[in-house]
Amino acid sequence: MAAPVTITFLGGLGEIGRNCAAIETEGRIVVLDCGQMFGGDDLPGVDSVLPDLSWLFDNADRVDACIATHAHEDHIGALPHLLAHMSLPIYGSRFTLGMIDHKLREAGLSKKADLREIHDRDRLDVGPFDCEFLPVTHSIPSGNITAFHTAQGVILHSSDFKLDLTPVDGRRTDLSRIGALGFDPGIRLMLADSTNADRPGSSRSESEIGGVLTSLFRGQEGRRVIVASFASHIHRLQQIADAAVATGRVVVTLGLSMRRNVKLARDVGILRIPDHAIRDIEDIDELDPERVCVVCTGSQGEPRAALTMMANGMSKWMQLTDNDTVIFSSHPIPGNEAAVAAVRNGLARHGASVFHSGQVDVHTSGHGKQQELQTLHSVAVPEWFVPVHGEYAHLVAHAELARGMGMADDRVVLCEDGDQIVLSDDGVEHLGSVGGDHLYVDGTVGDLGNMVLGERRTLGDDGFVTVVVHVDLERGEILAGPDVVSRGWVEQPALVAHETAVADAVEQDLMKALEDRDVDLDRLAQIARRAAGRTVNDRTRRRPMIVPVVREG
Ligand SMILES: [Zn+2]
Ligand SMILES: [Zn+2]
Repeated sequence: MAAPVTITFLGGLGEIGRNCAAIETEGRIVVLDCGQMFGGDDLPGVDSVLPDLSWLFDNADRVDACIATHAHEDHIGALPHLLAHMSLPIYGSRFTLGMIDHKLREAGLSKKADLREIHDRDRLDVGPFDCEFLPVTHSIPSGNITAFHTAQGVILHSSDFKLDLTPVDGRRTDLSRIGALGFDPGIRLMLADSTNADRPGSSRSESEIGGVLTSLFRGQEGRRVIVASFASHIHRLQQIADAAVATGRVVVTLGLSMRRNVKLARDVGILRIPDHAIRDIEDIDELDPERVCVVCTGSQGEPRAALTMMANGMSKWMQLTDNDTVIFSSHPIPGNEAAVAAVRNGLARHGASVFHSGQVDVHTSGHGKQQELQTLHSVAVPEWFVPVHGEYAHLVAHAELARGMGMADDRVVLCEDGDQIVLSDDGVEHLGSVGGDHLYVDGTVGDLGNMVLGERRTLGDDGFVTVVVHVDLERGEILAGPDVVSRGWVEQPALVAHETAVADAVEQDLMKALEDRDVDLDRLAQIARRAAGRTVNDRTRRRPMIVPVVREG
């Protein structure tokens, strides 16, 4: 029997974000991506959500390497967390490694960075695996599909992908090689991106955006133009720069990550802007506004990003006027709609004209839609299939698509975060789950538990009520209080009466309890909490956090 291959999905199956899987054979493990996710409104104060890597840490002595398929945060964002616990080489393209290098430096981990560059169509040993890396088109350059040549046959991981036949850099997804592998030796198992599995049709080519931008720029004669985009979307930046140059404008980069990524991409040779056509934001006052195209971050309404600061009138560099045109070359990621709308309103208040993807075709997705997924399935013809990279509904849609193309029900395996599967001579089987919990990170505080998050939600929704009482346990007396202090619960003037009622109820119940000389402080705190909670609920129908403090003396 040939050596089986085990895959443990640590994140990205059940959400868009924090992608991470571990693939192992003969006791040795390779990590495939290690990303993060950002906190939303339902996660107050959470900066990022990481995969629970404890299973990897428990098996650290068996982990040989990590492969980074591309440089999006949902694929490389948790690498500092991984490297803080173990040392290992990281394989990726030159651009991907440049982005990782910066991230590790920022985290003070550059000494641990053993970064190993791969090139398109390289075939090399990574840990126990014979790996082949193929080019793939996506909304960031230099991504790679990985084909693991194993004793169980080829395992193909699609990475995030679309099938762009006219990509900006001419580097197409290597469908012919996938087809060749599908034919001989055949693809035993495919793991493929499900982000747009519920969307019919195909995504438009990235190179179509350039023409739209150029004609939009032409209509802005005499005005300053500002374009917001993802700082990592180098091919979009290329097209913005080309449109700027074609219409006699100079590109000005605004925002730290924008400047850094533009520099990296130009150094690596994948972004071509002539020196005379690019300036730093420090020079903005010397330039004629009609001859400027500012490219900046903030297309998702991120709180501290350049465009958000402009919309709030807090930008150090630029004050907007009715002579400005702002283009959102992006689409709000689900969950960011409200933040983006707030930025748009802010821009409109300054008199700026705003264009977005709802009005003009200034954006296209980096993830393949149904027709593209069908094309991939039809050339790869996998024997087994596991949909990855998506919310649960996306995974189900991708599974249905595969079945619709003739795959047998039992050959399509739905997995979730934490699931472990094995590929053996008998095919794919579920082994069980290793957890797949979310790890919440809160600034420098470190890991946050569900308890703290629950408390934050309560505080945010209903505020808190504190009851402070000093007692003499031996004499069975209240010495001071109850003093009631609340925040975020009810408005004045009703507040005073409510607080007094809480104090009275707590006092009454505590007096009764204190008659029993055996009572202790914990028990009294419990009684105070109940009395306060009951009164609060009866009078206001709210559920603020109740914090009883009962002290002796
Ligand atoms: Zn991606
Ligand atoms: Zn992704």
